[in-house]
Amino acid sequence: MSKYEELIQKDLEYIWHPFTQMKDFEEHKPIVIDHGKGIYVYDLKGNKYIDAVASWWVNTLGHSNDRLNKALCDQANKIEHILLAGFTHEPAITLAQKLVEISPEPLKKVFFSDNGSTAVEVAIKMAYQYWVQVGKPEKSKFVAIKNSYHGDTLGVVSIGGCDLFHKLYKPLLFDIEQSPSPYCYRCPMGKEKGKCNFECAYAVEDILKKESHNIAGMVVEPMIQGSGGMIIYPPEYLKIIRELCDKYDILLIDDEVAMGFGRTGKFVACEHADITPDIMCLAKGITAGYMPLAVTLCTQKIYDAFYDDYEKTKTFYHGHSFTGNPLACAVAVENLKILEEEKIFEKNQPKIKHFGKKLQEFYKLPNVGDVRHLGMIGAVEIVKDKKTKEPFPFEKRVEMEIYREGLKNGIIMRPMGNTFYFMPPYVITEDEIDLMLDIAYKSIEKVLSVSL
Ligand SMILES: *Cc1c(COP(=O)(O)O)cnc(C)c1O
Repeated sequence: MSKYEELIQKDLEYIWHPFTQMKDFEEHKPIVIDHGKGIYVYDLKGNKYIDAVASWWVNTLGHSNDRLNKALCDQANKIEHILLAGFTHEPAITLAQKLVEISPEPLKKVFFSDNGSTAVEVAIKMAYQYWVQVGKPEKSKFVAIKNSYHGDTLGVVSIGGCDLFHKLYKPLLFDIEQSPSPYCYRCPMGKEKGKCNFECAYAVEDILKKESHNIAGMVVEPMIQGSGGMIIYPPEYLKIIRELCDKYDILLIDDEVAMGFGRTGKFVACEHADITPDIMCLAKGITAGYMPLAVTLCTQKIYDAFYDDYEKTKTFYHGHSFTGNPLACAVAVENLKILEEEKIFEKNQPKIKHFGKKLQEFYKLPNVGDVRHLGMIGAVEIVKDKKTKEPFPFEKRVEMEIYREGLKNGIIMRPMGNTFYFMPPYVITEDEIDLMLDIAYKSIEKVLSVSL
């Protein structure tokens, strides 16, 4: 047996993979990745793949970046971990200062954790405790949006709105108010894209008119509902939500876990709408894909509601073993330095233009219903029938076939339902954008010309 086959066999024996029906693996074996460089990863057999999904949206500067490698090793030689209660360290301090400096103005304090779900859990707990401590404990509910995804722990599953991932756990979840999704291609308000008065945003006001005295905050994924299917919506929606949060005195929680660190072309996506949140969560791109790290930032006003004499028990009783891990913080600091010194966001601008233009070619395919683009994200939604927008049936798994065809042709693209997306590392060149999209185009074309 080759080393490759041996590894596969052991994997199937011991590992339970995330978001994976393990029975599928018996037929479609996992791919053993050995190393990576830039936008490419290489398997143990020597096959090369374009990482078009940035390894679940975390990789921004390409695989095995020399400067990040060095920052990680240097820090490992100093101190790998120290608890952040009663102790602190330079990487965490430098990172927190830099994050406050580049984040929207009112955000002043940084709370560390180690993954996106937890960063949002922290935001929810912080928002609720804030209201308790300013004398409004009845404000305990949250507004969240249909098709939202904020992670997989139970608190954030409660505010999630993707039935496939979330519905089963309903008996374990807390109650929320759910507002309609700003899904322009399939408008829940029955309107046509570009010809509406943002009825989906004003639907939030109907909730707040009745319920705002019980509501602590509203949680949004800014500009794009990611896992819900890369649903890109106009900035006006966010502007309206910010106004409503002010008008009805509730906190706006901005989940930038997926979109922060330049993914949409700006440092954080809420900048597109020129709004500022009360609480903001960052994770995925924070260490450029190296280490698990997350932060929740809040305003001085929220922080002050926790600041009091010890015996008043207003402490925020939350923390994790790896809170503010020095290795992760050191890499995150170096990541910010690279973004600044190498002018990554500026260099992305022409690539973003090129990417958006090239994506339009997908409309030529008879089964592409919608093409969406913002910054370094592109998405194509596949339909069985362009006129009725009817998707292919769930059990036919057409998208999975396209995924596998893509792998054969050297591209990693994981569909979310009937949507394919492209979220390459920023180090991609314009020629590589063409290559990535051409391979994806041909893979979709090939599978759908057969299964029709
Ligand atoms: C991925 C994601 C999360 C969860 O982050 P994890 O690190 O996977 O726990 C939360 N919010 C959004 C918007 C995400 O895309």
